Amino acid sequence: MRVNDPLRADVANRANERCEYCQYPEEHSPSSFQVEHIVPSSADGPTELSNLALACSHCNLHKGKRQEGIDPQTGTDVRLFNPRSNDWTVHFRLNQETGEIEGQTSIGRTTVEVLLMNAEQPTRARRNLIRFGVL
Ligand SMILES: [Zn+2]
Repeated sequence: MRVNDPLRADVANRANERCEYCQYPEEHSPSSFQVEHIVPSSADGPTELSNLALACSHCNLHKGKRQEGIDPQTGTDVRLFNPRSNDWTVHFRLNQETGEIEGQTSIGRTTVEVLLMNAEQPTRARRNLIRFGVL
């Protein structure tokens, strides 16, 4: 999604230049991060700060237009993590040994699952950043 540059700068600054889903820092990513619509444009989500989040290409690709998923623990429909209204530290925890992101709540578990946050490549990248003291 194309977003004009001043708006992108505001989104990136607010996010401390980290993916707002997996917390990966953009400066350590080979590709630039994207401005993501939390509620997708196709569902009338506006292009304004309150509906935008900075996302790495992995999270953005897997989130796509999704707003909910199935909690792997309970099998119920749950809405995904919303970086504007939810606190990351409540819903997720980074396992410093494995590099995996562990969902701490139904929203966290579901978002980890839908965004494939613990796929091999991003998990390996996080382990490397942990080793170098970045995460
Ligand atoms: Zn991410």
